[in-house]
Amino acid sequence: MSTLGSGSQTIETIAVIGAGTMGHGIAQIAGSAGFRVLLRDVDRESLARGINSIEKNLAKGIQLGKLTEADSERTLQQIRGTTILDDCAAADLIIEAAPEKLDLKREILRQLEVASDRQFIFASNTSSLSITEIARVSKRPENVIGMHFFNPVHLMRLVEVVVGSETSETTIETVTAVGRQLRKEPIVVKDVPGFASSRLGVALGLEAMRMLEQGVASAQDIDTAMELGYNHPMGPLKLTDLVGLDVRLNIAEYLHRELGTETFRPPDVLRRMVSEGKLGKKTGTGFYDWNKDKEARQSHSS
Ligand code: NAD
Repeated sequence: MSTLGSGSQTIETIAVIGAGTMGHGIAQIAGSAGFRVLLRDVDRESLARGINSIEKNLAKGIQLGKLTEADSERTLQQIRGTTILDDCAAADLIIEAAPEKLDLKREILRQLEVASDRQFIFASNTSSLSITEIARVSKRPENVIGMHFFNPVHLMRLVEVVVGSETSETTIETVTAVGRQLRKEPIVVKDVPGFASSRLGVALGLEAMRMLEQGVASAQDIDTAMELGYNHPMGPLKLTDLVGLDVRLNIAEYLHRELGTETFRPPDVLRRMVSEGKLGKKTGTGFYDWNKDKEARQSHSS
């Protein structure tokens, strides 16, 4: 059992809403940290997929010698799956990782508050929506906050704690302390479009694309400048290929609209590549030719 000290609320049970890419990872690290975890998705299949991904991550950890069988067992024992949203209202902290739709997130929060009068904290893992806007439907907006994890959750060290206009100090302290217990490095950020991470990361990626358009250097050399010159583990163009050019274009359009600065105007090259279906690794082509890399890897191993 994990509890917290003074200045923050005691958290013993964490409910995770959504067992997809982010939710399963959040449930895994919460289970590993000793919290009782309730993982909720809409049907048994989605839930099973989430639990299966957790098992795969843990198996990989054992294979790499980072975990023991006993660690893995302990983590899995902490996690219980459910398809019933109301069950989650019994948790002290609810981390919402459902799809990125404001109405859906609000509906989940509203239904949980109807299900129980308990003083749970509701933390959304939204990557772009406003916490203040989500909290507008809440009877207790002081308990609503953002906990923005990164993919893959079990490996990425950052969690952005996003503070809405009504979020209380106790909620901030509680969630920051939980973030540390989950072995993440929390940073506290105001509820502004792009928070801290997306705003900086997207700005760098868009500038790299403009440099490519202007023929300053090749994609590979622009990435190498950041990797070797600034110690970034991956250059901004390769990262854009991994995230997906369509995803990046959506975020750039959103930040351009909301922040109104030219920094976020999507470069022509990005629009063109998206319209041609060159979305990065998932389609095989982006700023890099991923099929070529795959063929090279296959011929090395054969
Ligand atoms: P995903 O599509 O992989 O998973 C969403 C899951 O939620 C699915 O399993 C779906 O069945 C389930 N779901 C749908 N409605 C639900 C409901 N009412 N209750 C419970 N579960 C429900 O999505 P994801 O990539 O994990 O993203 C989830 C959230 O995390 C989004 O807000 C997204 O913006 C944010 N986020 C994503 C990333 C990323 O890299 N994927 C990174 C940071 C934050």
